[in-house]
Formats: sequence, C-alpha cells, structure tokens
Amino acid sequence: MESVESKSESGGSGSGTVLVAVIIPSGVGVAVESRVSSPSPLSKSDVLSIFLYPQHKLHSIRENPPVLAAWCNYNIEGMGLIHHLKSKVKNQKLKSIVQLGRNYLSSKTEKFVLQCYICGVENGEPQAYIINRHWDILHVPKCGSNGDCQCSRLKINLHTRKLKFGVHCIGSGASFALENLRFSFEGVDEIRDDTGEFNIENLSKGGDLTLDEVHTILLHAVFDAALLDSHCGGPFWVSSIPTIGVGGIVSQPPCDFVSAYKCFHSTYETLHESHIFLIYRRDLEGTDYGGIIVKNLIPAEVTRFVGYPVAELAGDYVLHMMVLVDVGCVKQLGSIFDPIADAYEFSDAGMFCKDLSQLKFCIVDKSKLDENGHGVQSEDIRDSEYIFVGLPNLNFLNSLILDEKSINFER
Ligand SMILES: [Zn+2]
Repeated sequence: MESVESKSESGGSGSGTVLVAVIIPSGVGVAVESRVSSPSPLSKSDVLSIFLYPQHKLHSIRENPPVLAAWCNYNIEGMGLIHHLKSKVKNQKLKSIVQLGRNYLSSKTEKFVLQCYICGVENGEPQAYIINRHWDILHVPKCGSNGDCQCSRLKINLHTRKLKFGVHCIGSGASFALENLRFSFEGVDEIRDDTGEFNIENLSKGGDLTLDEVHTILLHAVFDAALLDSHCGGPFWVSSIPTIGVGGIVSQPPCDFVSAYKCFHSTYETLHESHIFLIYRRDLEGTDYGGIIVKNLIPAEVTRFVGYPVAELAGDYVLHMMVLVDVGCVKQLGSIFDPIADAYEFSDAGMFCKDLSQLKFCIVDKSKLDENGHGVQSEDIRDSEYIFVGLPNLNFLNSLILDEKSINFER
C-alpha cells in the first residue's frame, strides 16, 4: 500500500506558484509569477532569502528554434533542470528535449515535487509538454501507517504528456488562474486532481486569439491568482512563440504587482471596495509581528482576511493587502488611522510614497504590546512603529515607490 500523504510536500524552499500555458493555432504562450514576496516563512532568514532572491521560473531554453520552459514547486531542482536542458538542447527535437528532462528528473532520488512545461514551435506547429514528478513513500507490507512509521523507501512517479490545444494551469494558484481564464476561453474542463492540473481543452472559444491578446489575458490570470493565493506574487512574466512570422521568443518585460494592479484596476473596483493596503517595515514581516500589529490596530470583527505581502517598497517597507468584512469596515478604519498632516515628521513614508495625502497612519506602541502580554521582545520592532494604510485606488497605487531590486532582477 503506497502512501500519498507527502505529494504536496516540497522541502519548504519553493512550494506554491502559478504557471499557465496556452497552446492555440497562433502559437504558445506561457505566464508565471516569481513570488518576490511570500507569507508565513519559517524563520526570519527564510523571509530575507525569499525577498532577496525571487524565483526565476520561466526560461528560454533555446532561441532557434525557440523553446520555452517553466517550472513550479522545488526551486533547486527546477533550476537544475533548466541548466541541464540548456546545456543539452542543441539540435534536439522538442520530444527529445522532454525526454532529456525526464531522464534528468528520474536520476534524482530526493523527496521533491517538480512540474514543468516545455513549449516550442516545430515545423510551424505549436507544441507543449508537461513533466510531472511526484514521490510517494513505499510502505512495507503490513505497515498500515499513514506517515509516522519508519518506512523510508521512495517511489518516484514521473509522467510526461503532450498537451492538447487549450489552456493549462499548474501550481497552488492554478484553480484561481483557471477561473480567470474562463472569461476568454471555453471548452471541456480537464481537472487532474492527482497532478494538480487545471485545464480547458477542446476549445469552443478563445482558439482564434492572437498572441498579443493572449499576453494580456495571461498576465491577468496570473495576477488574479496572486490576489487569491498567498503563495503567488509578482513580478509576472509572459513569453510566447508565434507560429507565423520570423519566429523566435517574444518576451514581455516583467510586470510588478502594482503595475499589474493598475492595468486591471477597473475590473476590481467593486470587488475590492472592502480591501485595504497596510504598509509596514520589512522587519515586521516574516514572523508573527505583522499579525500582532494587525490584531492590535484593527478589530478582529472587521477583519475578514489578514492578508499577505504583495510587493516590496523602497526604504525596506512592504505592501500588505488585507480584506475587511465590508465597505462599512473601511470607513470605520478611517477613525482609527490619522491623516499625515506633517510630512516632515514622517520622513520614512517619503521613501516609499510620492504623495503622502494618499496615506493615513497609526502608531503601534511596543511597550504597550508588552504590557498586554503579547510578548513582543524582538529588537526588530521599534518602540513606536508607524503603520500606514492606503485604499486600493489609482491615486494610491500611483503614489507608491517600489524597491528596484525586487522588480528588475535578472532572469
Ligand atoms: Zn510505513
């Protein structure tokens, strides 16, 4: 009897993401996010490494003929696979490249999950494959346990498949991306629970889109997933390979969370009436501090979802999205936070915000937290923390200054 309890485990260094691939007559398009921000890390050093080293998940494997590859789940072997393919890919057909990837992953004996799309255009035909690598514990006969046993043998499950024309999503945000893609694509749902694939195949709508149209649609889908799945986040990358024309890979510049939000803002205006953005120092992320601060500033009865970091701002501040119960709660918060009347006093806010009239602030007094038994002893927290709040409107978004390193990293 084989256990399946550990299929989603990925070693804590790269779980969660969203990948979307579209294969239609005009070409192949791939979108991924790079999760520059990430929630609930295990330790302070974890959050720093995640912030400083965003994950590069979409790669050009070969320029001519063009091949794209994108992976999700285990960071280290995801990059291992990319480097392996790049070194071997010369003069290989797409099908052989997929076999190379499969061989590479089957040679690894460690516990990790990896999923990968490999896409290209061959003889004018758009083609794409998925490689799924999962693992199970092989329990000895009569073990009867579901995990707390000594069984140590692993079974590596490797499946490769040619993708049909249609829309394909993997990663923890896959179902959210798929729901967004339903606006543009219709067909037959192919949900594969065992590998977490959320696909629309046999398209009855969307098959005639141009790749330019697909770029916008893909960006919206991965952005939407990042709003709904705390394991996804910007910057977002979109690349495609057209079937006609001079060929080659068409890559959009990376699109950060705030820019993507501005692009699609009109579609969220009503939906996000009960959303707010909190801004606080990065030191307060990555542990429970952020949660403690929210709890001490914002009454639990108005909080639907404490939220998670979505972007890095200049000056080591983090943009944090949270959801309140309704619009009335946003108004109620107006009485808790004060306008910034004197910009000089809040010189820190000027580091990440060009228009301080878009911000309100509140002070968390660490000494009072201690007295309340919250046990905040860390040196990372100042005696008085200024916490800023902004509403999800274009003026607020336009006022933000992003951290350059978090949006312009090299691929
Ligand atoms: Zn066992």
